Amino acid sequence: MLKVEDLEVRYGPIHALKRVSMTVGKSEIVTVVGANGAGKSSLLKAIVGAVKSSSGKIIFEEKVVNGLTAPDRVKSGLILVPEGRQIFVSMTVEENLLIGAYSQHSSQQRQAIESIFDRFKNLADRRYQLASVLSGGEQQMLAIGRAMVARPKLLMLDEPSLGLSPILVRQLFELIEELNSEGISILIVEQNTKLALKTAQRGYVLELGSVRQQGLASELAGDKGLANAYLGDSV
Ligand code: ATP
Repeated sequence: MLKVEDLEVRYGPIHALKRVSMTVGKSEIVTVVGANGAGKSSLLKAIVGAVKSSSGKIIFEEKVVNGLTAPDRVKSGLILVPEGRQIFVSMTVEENLLIGAYSQHSSQQRQAIESIFDRFKNLADRRYQLASVLSGGEQQMLAIGRAMVARPKLLMLDEPSLGLSPILVRQLFELIEELNSEGISILIVEQNTKLALKTAQRGYVLELGSVRQQGLASELAGDKGLANAYLGDSV
C-alpha cells in the first residue's frame, strides 16, 4: 500500500533522513521506533507532504505521490495525526471535525462527523464546547476523529500516547487496533516502543536518519541490543 524508497530529507545542513526505505502493507500496523531526533517525525511529515524530500520516492497505492500537494495526498487517503495533536482549541469540537472533512460534500461531511460522535460519546456530549475544555485523552480522540472524517486508507500517528495516563494509553491502542480491524492500515511512531511493538506486526528502527534494523515486531521486541538502546520500561 505504501512504499518509501531511498527517501532523503534535509533541513539546511541537517540530514534528517538518509536513504530511508520502508513499506506498509494493506491492513498492516507498522511502527517506527528510535531515539529522539532519529528522524521519525520527518519521515511521517515527508510522506504526507508537510516537509519536502530532497530525493527518493513515496509510492502510495502504486502511484508516486512526491509531486502531489499535501491536500491531494489527504484526498488520496494518506492522513497524519501530528505530534501534540494540533487541534484548534479556540474552535468547538464539531468545528475541529469539520476541518478534517473539508474536502467532502456537505452531506458526506455530516455523515462522517456523526459517525465520529457515535464512536466517541465524550466528544458528542461536548460537540458545541471549545476544544480547550477537553482533557488530554479527549483531545487525542478529537485529533484521531478529525483524521477519521477525512477517510484515511493509511492513518499515521506521531507519538499519540504523549502525555496520556496509562489507562488512556491502553484505550488509545485498543482504538488503533479497532480501526485497523476495520481495514485501515496504520503507521505509528511512538515513544512507548514496547507497546507499539506489541501492537504492530512489523517495525523499523531509525538511528540518526537511517534504518538500522527492521523486522517482525515480535522479533524486534525480543532483541536484547534494541531493548537496551530504546525499549526501556515504558509500558
Ligand atoms: P523526536 O522524537 O524528538 O520528535 P524524531 O525522531 O521525530 O525526534 P525528527 O523530529 O524527525 O526526529 O528530527 C530529525 C532531525 O531533524 C533532528 O536532528 C531535528 O533536530 C532536525 N529537525 C527536525 N525538524 C527540523 C526543522 N524544521 N528545521 C531544522 N531541523 C529540524
